[in-house]
Amino acid sequence: MREGRLIAPRSKRRPEKVPDYFADSVLDVDFAVLKKLGVKHIVIDLDLTLKKKLQWHLEKEVVDYLLEAKKKHGFKSISIATNNMLNINRYAKALSANVFQPYWQGLRLIRKPNQKYFQKIFKYLKAKPSECVIIGDKLKSDVYGGNRAGMLTVRVRAKGQDYWYDWVLFTRLRESRQLSKYIKKK
Ligand SMILES: [Mg+2]
Repeated sequence: MREGRLIAPRSKRRPEKVPDYFADSVLDVDFAVLKKLGVKHIVIDLDLTLKKKLQWHLEKEVVDYLLEAKKKHGFKSISIATNNMLNINRYAKALSANVFQPYWQGLRLIRKPNQKYFQKIFKYLKAKPSECVIIGDKLKSDVYGGNRAGMLTVRVRAKGQDYWYDWVLFTRLRESRQLSKYIKKK
């Protein structure tokens, strides 16, 4: 990735919470690299990845960058895969993106990182997991979920301020501790 670093090639020894790539933001994701790795479908988290909290429209810069990448590299689709249960169509529309949200199966809510959530995406896209990349800010729902599903994973820094529950749970602190072992020193 332009600003990111390749941490480790896929191997059994790499924990599932460690992504294939890091990037500072969606705008720093190098889609040429992903294309070379056989990616055909882009799957992106919404909150704190594509947008900040309380942001009602995607920034033009972000939309343009993704649409340009899709066109230039011939990606088949862009999808938003979120645990957000509100209506997110206004974000998807700008990208002509598919939308994947949590759904109920009986009394269980199926959401990231549940593997059923990911299987539904592959089925819809008619794609192999290895042909899909997931780009997201959360180690558990995006990276762990994506790695387990067999996708390529890119972790971006959370965009803007975290949601309050992340602060309360010290999510970021825990995440950076988990990752620090794998980040190569500059
Ligand atoms: Mg997120």
